[in-house]
Amino acid sequence: MQEDEIKKNINKCSRCALCLQNCPIYQIKKDENNTARGLICKLSGYEKNILVENEIKKDLKICLNCSKCKENCPSKVNTTLVFAYKNAKFSPSIISQRLFLMVKLLPIKILYFLNIFKKKLKKKTIKSNVLYFKGCVAKAQHKITYLDKIFSSSDFLCCGLPYLSSGDIKNYNKAKIRNINLIKNASKVVFDCASCKRAVSEYEELDENEIKKLVFFSDFLSEKNLKLNKNSKYRNKTVVFHKPCHMDKDDFKKIELFLANLEGINYKKLENPDQCCGFGGSYFIYHPIVAFKILLKKAFEIKKSKADLILTACPSCTIGLRFGQIISLNFKKTLELRDFVDCELTIKKKKYYKLLFRIC
Ligand code: SF4
Ligand code: SF4
Repeated sequence: MQEDEIKKNINKCSRCALCLQNCPIYQIKKDENNTARGLICKLSGYEKNILVENEIKKDLKICLNCSKCKENCPSKVNTTLVFAYKNAKFSPSIISQRLFLMVKLLPIKILYFLNIFKKKLKKKTIKSNVLYFKGCVAKAQHKITYLDKIFSSSDFLCCGLPYLSSGDIKNYNKAKIRNINLIKNASKVVFDCASCKRAVSEYEELDENEIKKLVFFSDFLSEKNLKLNKNSKYRNKTVVFHKPCHMDKDDFKKIELFLANLEGINYKKLENPDQCCGFGGSYFIYHPIVAFKILLKKAFEIKKSKADLILTACPSCTIGLRFGQIISLNFKKTLELRDFVDCELTIKKKKYYKLLFRIC
């Protein structure tokens, strides 16, 4: 984002305060300096030389980059991109976020090499220019999903969100350029992580038609004939879904419809399904107290729901929710929706292909 674009966005803010009510940080800290309106006001002061960067950078750092303010902004201020670029300018990343990401994923890789993840990737059977955007965590786990068996997935780099949120614009741009080239040559790109999809769909260089190519794998799930396996341990169990902050509202609606219609489970809507889990990326490392308070709120809401299984569609949320189960002493299983579909539903292979190609 160029400086003039940033200024345009700052000037678009009408100070209406609609972004306050959904901001997870405001809910915990009750300090307007940490809301989108507060940050935009401060950045406007900076542009007019009234404030200096030291008076803003601490508040910018505490933003979760969850996009809730952006989603609820009637003036369409691109808050998250403005905050990310200003954060990168005021607090440039000292250590390479690429290295940081590799270190973060190291435990997962070690588990794989200790042979805990035993599946090997089978050769693809169908060639197509529909690509599967496999996230960094699934790649590190060498996780094999049915999406792997159909689409090509190996060439995408990280979606860039971890780089962008930590102010590493250089690596963000590198990942973005590579991914955009792949998207331009694909007919569709299928995602199974809500945060990856959001990050990619926010690449400013993509036009409307290219953004339409980005689809969530669950688009086909409301298909009537999908059933829970006869022997599934979740038969007649209560299932809830945590909506990751970055998940599109439409994708969430389709997932809800699928779960509500799925024969064999009792789907229960959480009181506040898109309440943040506080675990976005490395946020928990830098702001453990705030993240912990947000997570606690989520964990107790889940406990109150008496759910037997918690589903979500983002690996960061999955880790957060699992931790939340421990701290709320509510030891229920948390699964990625993709894994639940893969392991617990009866879908014949041919039908997979048919269903998946229908969305493509
Ligand atoms: S909702 Fe948008 S326009 Fe309203 S105060 Fe927040 S950022 Fe500004
Ligand atoms: S991105 Fe999220 S945490 Fe940051 S100001 Fe907006 S709503 Fe608050």
